[in-house]
Amino acid sequence: MCPDRMSGSLAVYGGTFDPVHYGHLRSAIEIWQALCVDTVCLVPSYLPPHRQQPDSTPEQRLEMLRLAIDGHVGLRIDDREIKRKGPSFMVETLESIRQDVGADASLSLVLGSDAFAIFSEWRRWEDIIEIAHLVVLERPGYTLADAPQPLLDWSLSRWVESPQELLKTAAGKMTSLRVTQLEISATMIRDQINVGLAIDYLLPEKVQDYISQQKLYSTP
Ligand code: ATP
Repeated sequence: MCPDRMSGSLAVYGGTFDPVHYGHLRSAIEIWQALCVDTVCLVPSYLPPHRQQPDSTPEQRLEMLRLAIDGHVGLRIDDREIKRKGPSFMVETLESIRQDVGADASLSLVLGSDAFAIFSEWRRWEDIIEIAHLVVLERPGYTLADAPQPLLDWSLSRWVESPQELLKTAAGKMTSLRVTQLEISATMIRDQINVGLAIDYLLPEKVQDYISQQKLYSTP
């Protein structure tokens, strides 16, 4: 429970969201509850640097997020990577958010354990912890322990057990969070659409309707 949410505190949840699904949305709510931040900000990338390029346009992915969030308390969408264009390096996004929120606000970057395993391939990854805290979400099929040992060693001196510890400082700490394990991925949704299977109950109905209307993910 969060008796007081620290005003201005922010958790950034980046991703491709191609499409957004209940794995993302349920995690976002549980992050908001566990960290007691003011807002969880979903940041869709323009060009994700560490993976295959999305099947839908940045505008379509943004619209699906808008339909999914639909003013939900505690959640917000930040379209700065889409406006910036070019490869979406998270360190640049965090620098720009830090300028907006000020030096003292608690700022956290949330990423799944699959993404954390390749964190040391991210541009200026060691600078990220100077700008923000790091919250690793346990994701089905990937435990934190699957990350390379040097990365785990790097984490040790920054580690805190309670997510709410992150509110006490602006940046520099790390923790993990076990959210409800929903074994859903955007890849699985795209594949199911492609072979004509139902995607009901994997993502919000409004997003499903938008996918049908825009004829997304079905190769002719
Ligand atoms: P894809 O299958 O296309 O790789 P994805 O479902 O993994 O997509 P992304 O947009 O790449 O979704 O992920 C954004 C962030 O959300 C990443 O940090 C990822 O680890 C996390 N994430 C994705 N799905 C889940 C899930 N089911 N539970 C918890 N975290 C998730």
